[in-house]
Amino acid sequence: MVIDGKAATAHSGATIEIHDPATGELVDTVPQAGVEETREAIEAADAAFPAWAALSPHKRAQLLLKGAGLARQHLDEVALLLTREQGKPLRDSKIEAERFVENIEFYATLAASGAVRGKHVPLSVPGAFGLVVRRPLGVVGAIIPWNFPLTLLANKIAPALAMGNTVVAKPASTTPLSTIRLVELMNEGGLPAGVLNVVVGPGAVVGQELIRHPRVRKIGFTGETRTGINVMREAAPELKHVTLELGGSDPAVVCADADLEVAAKAIAIGRFFNAGQACLAIKRVFVVEPAADQLIEKVVARAKKLKLAPGQDPASQMGPMHTRGGREELERQLKDALDRGARLLAGGSRPQGTAFEKGFFFEPTVISDVPQEARVWTDIARVKDLDEAIARANESEYGLGSSVFTRDLKQAQQAIDRLEAGYTWVNSIQVAYDELPFGGTKHSGFGKEHGTEVLDFYTEQKSVVLAGV
Ligand code: NAD
Repeated sequence: MVIDGKAATAHSGATIEIHDPATGELVDTVPQAGVEETREAIEAADAAFPAWAALSPHKRAQLLLKGAGLARQHLDEVALLLTREQGKPLRDSKIEAERFVENIEFYATLAASGAVRGKHVPLSVPGAFGLVVRRPLGVVGAIIPWNFPLTLLANKIAPALAMGNTVVAKPASTTPLSTIRLVELMNEGGLPAGVLNVVVGPGAVVGQELIRHPRVRKIGFTGETRTGINVMREAAPELKHVTLELGGSDPAVVCADADLEVAAKAIAIGRFFNAGQACLAIKRVFVVEPAADQLIEKVVARAKKLKLAPGQDPASQMGPMHTRGGREELERQLKDALDRGARLLAGGSRPQGTAFEKGFFFEPTVISDVPQEARVWTDIARVKDLDEAIARANESEYGLGSSVFTRDLKQAQQAIDRLEAGYTWVNSIQVAYDELPFGGTKHSGFGKEHGTEVLDFYTEQKSVVLAGV
């Protein structure tokens, strides 16, 4: 771990083994922190805060950019660690490692550019005027899941650090290696000791201490909705700021006039990316008749063409699932759907062959005609018109992403207005851009990452009255 700029182990000597989901091999061991080490990291971040916050945005940006530059020189090393601990194809890991660097660069540059401003407000009293100034919050706890460890880490630490906060990051216990390496590199790049720390350990111990500790002023959390609800409850006694980026069940609405090639491509990428383990995965498709048969045919063709292989194989387009339990749950849901009469159109089994024997692989699978009562959440449903598509899309308790495919601007406009989600993509793959605010509604949480909007969640605004000047 990295605490106060130094490598740290657990006082108890406890460790966690990290295994490769493609082979079962032991990749490495990491310390397993408890409450004590978490407090040390919080205290280090708290001690580092006043000096870090007092630096000019330009100076902070210089140090962040130096760390990001060093990380850029080690992208291959970091990507390999990510593939070995998480399972995703190496080329996706490289993109993710690079996105980490770009995100740090984006916010460092933004903060240094003078674009992050307060306000001058004329007041009704003569001889006085108002200002609104932004201040950093203090120590931020960043709690990260296992599916996109580096992107989701960057989404929190980049704006937090650029705005003058200090951070204690907690990766998921199964994906800490690439995170620890990046934090080491950022520290080597010249971040003052204590500004960026990382501790590894169970959510219920390390995560909980971060949430409860009075010196942590803000929790940036990404994970499951039920964990997020706990985070909010635990954060209440200290009235802590929270951003909650939670689960999703993203709908795609395909109108009858849509370019079905474009829609099928976006749906196949949206559903199979990261072996289906993405918050923004397209989980429900509502296609207006008579386009359904043609769309299904195109999605099936794409599923059959996907190259399933261990992430380290350069040809791999889809790696194993991250955990044994995840694959078992998928198999239970598939069996339940097929038992209830769903039709299997592609995949449906564990792949055969020695390359797959020890990993948690599962073929890209498409089923159709899934009865409503089936447990599986993924479905392509035939609907009669756009109204029905939107109504069914909004039935979900979630509201993270959504997409619509149509050539008709009026239909697109209706979907944009009525889909209950934090994002609507029109005729596009679901990709979250640094420039646009990202975050959910309903049970997908609240608060924004990305964009200039995230800065509101890592600063607080103070009003100032200047009189007699
Ligand atoms: P999870 O909720 O089990 O764990 C997320 C993190 O929280 C981990 O670091 C975990 O150790 C920690 N944690 C667990 N219990 C805790 C507790 N009681 N107190 C504090 N921290 C605790 O989620 P997961 O299975 O790792 O991640 C997958 C979930 O994340 C999915 O639901 C997915 O949709 C969601 N997700 C959302 C987004 C988004 O931006 N909205 C992005 C990616 C993933």
